[in-house]
Amino acid sequence: MSLRAPLARKNMAESKQTPDANTGIPEYEYIDVNTKPFHVGSFRDEWLARLRPEDFSFQQEDEETFEANFAAEMGLGADTMAELKSACSIDSLRCHPEDEQLSMDDVPSNPRLKTLIQRKRKQERASSHNIHKNRHDFYADELERLTIGRPPEMGADRIPKGEVLLTINIYHPAVYEKFNFTRPCMTLLMTGSHTLTELRDAICCISDLQVCGEFSKTPDVAPDFISKDHFKSAFFFFEGVFYNDMRFPECQDISITTVEWAKAHNFPQYSQAKMEDTRFVDLKVKVGFPYLYCHQGECEHIIIITDVRLFHKTDCLDKNLYPLLTHKHRSLTQKCAVCHVFIARWYTTNDQFAPSDPCLFCDQCFRILHYDTEGNKLGQFFAFPYTDRGAFN
Ligand SMILES: [Zn+2]
Ligand SMILES: [Zn+2]
Repeated sequence: MSLRAPLARKNMAESKQTPDANTGIPEYEYIDVNTKPFHVGSFRDEWLARLRPEDFSFQQEDEETFEANFAAEMGLGADTMAELKSACSIDSLRCHPEDEQLSMDDVPSNPRLKTLIQRKRKQERASSHNIHKNRHDFYADELERLTIGRPPEMGADRIPKGEVLLTINIYHPAVYEKFNFTRPCMTLLMTGSHTLTELRDAICCISDLQVCGEFSKTPDVAPDFISKDHFKSAFFFFEGVFYNDMRFPECQDISITTVEWAKAHNFPQYSQAKMEDTRFVDLKVKVGFPYLYCHQGECEHIIIITDVRLFHKTDCLDKNLYPLLTHKHRSLTQKCAVCHVFIARWYTTNDQFAPSDPCLFCDQCFRILHYDTEGNKLGQFFAFPYTDRGAFN
């Protein structure tokens, strides 16, 4: 576990410059890069104090009120308003004669409207190719179906008025060769009342699924040994504070090494808090600034909060759907060396049956090749469970 010193030093230098960061109004520290630290709860309170209740209400304005407000704002008389209404009405948007029934699937043969041209092109493409949806597309469709236009009348499950919405980017651990800061591996929307442990539980990382050990004699017990169940400690690092996950008796304070190291080297002191007791509204953070999530001892992810704002009535207002995953990076998967079809699940070394050393196999090919029908091990080899990066695709 190592908090890289440059990051640590940078943080401390900056926190010195802004001794009083309790203001709820974020300002840029570096233009278009990141803000100075601000308290998320105070930021919400500042907005709520400045806005009119109808600005953050989830109630849809009824048509009459909307029109009255619109007319007043634009300085329009009743006649002009009526004319505008009929000219901009959806009913006047038609390319069919008025007595003809309108079907959304019928696109006129020579459309001039851009949206219709696009629709026609899409229809033609869909009918000429056999387009398969992959599971990412299915997931996106499902997400859209669940979240878009979710009605606000859902009682206890509705997001409360004046709640904060945070957009959080989580990056791959920096150990991958192709590590790229510009591509988050996932983007989550979370509410101000979520705790940091809820963020932790929403982060998918294959190092949580890794299985340590050699299982050539007992391949069936391997799946019971995933790291997540064995090594539960983790921390987030925001603005000089380590937030440790202490929910389980097995949890250890894995930030203590860094805290003590800083103390021994005359760095300003870091403080510690519990992940499970900290909600986002309690946090002091910089928007756009890279923070750290560390789990499995040394699997380090950069976390960037890219936006903090109040909920709008057009957001998904169903509490149960948060943390809401809005983006997931697709990873290339390593396929089985035998069938080249399925994702690799086993990794063997010193394997007389393998075409290479080490070699990757899917579960089926691995078992057919290395065990007899009774499940007895054939020949000599070492077998390690392999968790592919594409496991979360
Ligand atoms: Zn990780
Ligand atoms: Zn295979």
